[in-house]
Amino acid sequence: MGTMSYKYRVLFVNTSSKSWEIKEYGLKDDILGPIDLGVKLHLEEYESWKYDVFSPNNVFVLGRGLFAGGRLIGVHRLIAIFRSPLTRSLHVSAIGGVAYKFMRSGIHAVVVEGKSSIPLIILISSNEKGDIDVKFNEITLNRLEEVYRNYDGKEGVYALTKYLMDEYEEFIKENNARPIVVGPSAIKTIHGALFSLDIDIKRKSIALGAEDSAARGGPGSVLFQAHGVVALIVGGRYKPSDDNPKLLDMNLIDSISRKVHGKDYIPALSDATTKYRYNPKLGTGGTFGVNYPHYRDLIPTFAYNMMYLSKALRLKHYEMIMKYFWKPFNVEVFEKAKSWYNCGEPCPVVCKKVWRGKKVDYEPFNAMGPLIGVFLFEKTVELVDVVDALGFDAIEMGHIISWIFDAIHRGLLQPEEVGLDSKTFFDPISYDVRYSEHNAKLALKIVRGLIEKDNEVLKLIAEKGIREAARILDIKFKDRVSMIGLRFEDIAIYGSFGNRGYMTPNLYWTPGMIAPLFILGRYWTNYSPTFMSPEEYAKSSFERALKEYLIDNAGLCRFHRGWAEKMLQDLYREIWGVNVNLIVHAKKMYKKIAEYSKKAGAIPMFWDTKKAKDLIASIATEIGIEEWVKKFSANPEEAAKEWWDRFNKTIEILLK
Ligand code: SF4
Repeated sequence: MGTMSYKYRVLFVNTSSKSWEIKEYGLKDDILGPIDLGVKLHLEEYESWKYDVFSPNNVFVLGRGLFAGGRLIGVHRLIAIFRSPLTRSLHVSAIGGVAYKFMRSGIHAVVVEGKSSIPLIILISSNEKGDIDVKFNEITLNRLEEVYRNYDGKEGVYALTKYLMDEYEEFIKENNARPIVVGPSAIKTIHGALFSLDIDIKRKSIALGAEDSAARGGPGSVLFQAHGVVALIVGGRYKPSDDNPKLLDMNLIDSISRKVHGKDYIPALSDATTKYRYNPKLGTGGTFGVNYPHYRDLIPTFAYNMMYLSKALRLKHYEMIMKYFWKPFNVEVFEKAKSWYNCGEPCPVVCKKVWRGKKVDYEPFNAMGPLIGVFLFEKTVELVDVVDALGFDAIEMGHIISWIFDAIHRGLLQPEEVGLDSKTFFDPISYDVRYSEHNAKLALKIVRGLIEKDNEVLKLIAEKGIREAARILDIKFKDRVSMIGLRFEDIAIYGSFGNRGYMTPNLYWTPGMIAPLFILGRYWTNYSPTFMSPEEYAKSSFERALKEYLIDNAGLCRFHRGWAEKMLQDLYREIWGVNVNLIVHAKKMYKKIAEYSKKAGAIPMFWDTKKAKDLIASIATEIGIEEWVKKFSANPEEAAKEWWDRFNKTIEILLK
């Protein structure tokens, strides 16, 4: 098979005119996958940086990689590319397992453009031959809100999914389709995620564990507020392997695996995914099961204030976490039964660990748990359930709540100013596990308040995000700010983009999550809890960013990166005849993302929060890098600036 042999089929749906067309791209357009397409469209065709973030020109690109539909496992993520209302530059977000049904529509990606004034549900399907059909259905905002409030005893994204199951039962059955939806948070805030719950059509119910979200950066808010779309239901009867039977060639896959891993594909996959399945050494598995015993006292707690605490106190919190937070999960999910599921594609890693019906992952649970001063697992389950139902990004929600709690704790806010009737227990020194219930109750009020927006401060955060809200609050409460000597942004933690953009870190105590990189909020960085010279750190982060680009661009689940990274180059060549050097390709595309950020006025900027600078200083101290410990104690501001500048400079050089 020669080059230029594949066609990347893209469905453009115009939500203004309710029309659609198919365009085909390929290697000649430099398009190997969904991110390539998203970058090209935003940068060269729609020039979305010129417009408002919620302009219809902020096209919503959702696509799969080239390897779905064959014998490879973990290649069925859908990737969303959009301009983020948070970072204000391009953002990439992934949703697990959804391409397993999406691929049957015969398209590789859908691009949503235009804007519908009435909320839209878009049905996409195809027959065996790949003839595509698109239907536009409207739902009034009133009816939508009614459904969100309660449909069949469910709320938010769960209710909407159930409603779609009933309303479009025939379509879903016929096409084995899976809905992708947004929740109330997408309608009301900039923090809305994209959710997809798989459907067990025989049981007429939502499939256990097979729920995922593309959460960071506000993709749901863009889909709704820029285009008026609340759901896509995608399926069909097309077989992607009809495009290329090599996708089914197990001998070929095994031979590539033997070449790079020295063993057949399935054993190589099995070795590389232990952490996510079951680690016999730790007696647990999955991100939640493994991260606590692995990172121990380095786990972020109390709005990242753990970085100011002694190791002894952090270890005390760690013990509390293991006893009240980790153990109840582990007993039921690993000791009593094996409630492990996949994300919607038949994957033997079954990384979705389900506790009494609720899928448990590290980041959403730590965000709604120890980060906000809740150390009782059951309380966190209740919170994550509501946050998910409302369609929020749980990580961002954890940052918002913990920031508010910290502000109350330090006297920058009074509880009633955010609709609360009492203070939080947020002093890590006197903290006791029984305060969890109280904190959880207050957190729930904030979560709901962000949707109801009947409170001025919460409305501000819902619509503008932490960074802009902080500036407005600095002015509103200027007396407190000057008395306490801390601004609102000083107790928040994020990487800054341009004058307005920001991204809060995924929950690791690491410089890599807030360092000057063009995409944050994913794993396109070195996120180990470690410290190095800025040059070294930038190099390792950049290297990781390019590899993660390729993983996402191939629609690969990153839990499979252990085997996939080494095989990817051969897979593209042997299956699709693509001879492009992948790292060179990723670098070229990353450069384009940087170019977009410049045009959008959203390049990485030096930290404007004290806590971000303190994170760098504290991890340098923790790791004990003497040169930097000295610098930070002599002049913390200057040291932080030097580290940031040198990191930034290194990235500039690497991008040349
Ligand atoms: S590792 Fe988990 S998320 Fe990834 S493909 Fe397998 S089941 Fe899905």
